[in-house]
Amino acid sequence: PAKVSVFSYPLHLVDNAPEWLLMQQRSGRGQHVVTLNSEMVMLAERTPRFAELLRQADLVIPDGSGVILYLKLHGLSVKRQPGIEFAEALLKLASESDHHNRVFFYGAAPGVAETVAERWQAKLPNLKVVGVESGYHDANTEAELIRRLERLQPNIIFVALGVPRQEYWIQDHRHVCPTAIWVGVGGSFDIWAG
Ligand code: UDP
Repeated sequence: PAKVSVFSYPLHLVDNAPEWLLMQQRSGRGQHVVTLNSEMVMLAERTPRFAELLRQADLVIPDGSGVILYLKLHGLSVKRQPGIEFAEALLKLASESDHHNRVFFYGAAPGVAETVAERWQAKLPNLKVVGVESGYHDANTEAELIRRLERLQPNIIFVALGVPRQEYWIQDHRHVCPTAIWVGVGGSFDIWAG
């Protein structure tokens, strides 16, 4: 996709990120989506691993208003796409296709991902929530989670562990589901479970 720079990090310009992602998935390509805000840019400036991760992400979308302001000061008018709204649009589009509708929710306090799954399942009947896991657990549960993901091969995996844990976790585990769309969603599960 077309891109611009925020500091030295890429920001991709796609009109419809969910549509673009499903198209990539149809071609067998897995995706790591980063919803960029100024805290992430600042973190990257002082953390080489995070800087490299941003440069390698498949799709970086403008989540934060600081990012939009930075671009405006550089003469670029880019529309803000809040991460939670992007995630909602992705769920809706995915639910409209029998080939992209298998989703997994990982993260947040015990019980939250279950509530999120029930709510989205009720709202989007054709969505298939194939599994959930909370973000607080021991190493055994984590190993079991990875085996479940490997077996289930969800189309979309939402990871809500907070920045930067969720981004590092996706980087370390995306090979387990190589064609999945992986999205770090921060506090979105808490908002959805409201
Ligand atoms: N979280 C988690 N495991 C942890 C730490 C945090 O699942 O070990 C969850 C937390 O419950 C919350 C989300 O990660 O749902 C982080 O939300 P926050 O709004 O802090 O996200 P950020 O703005 O840091 O991306």
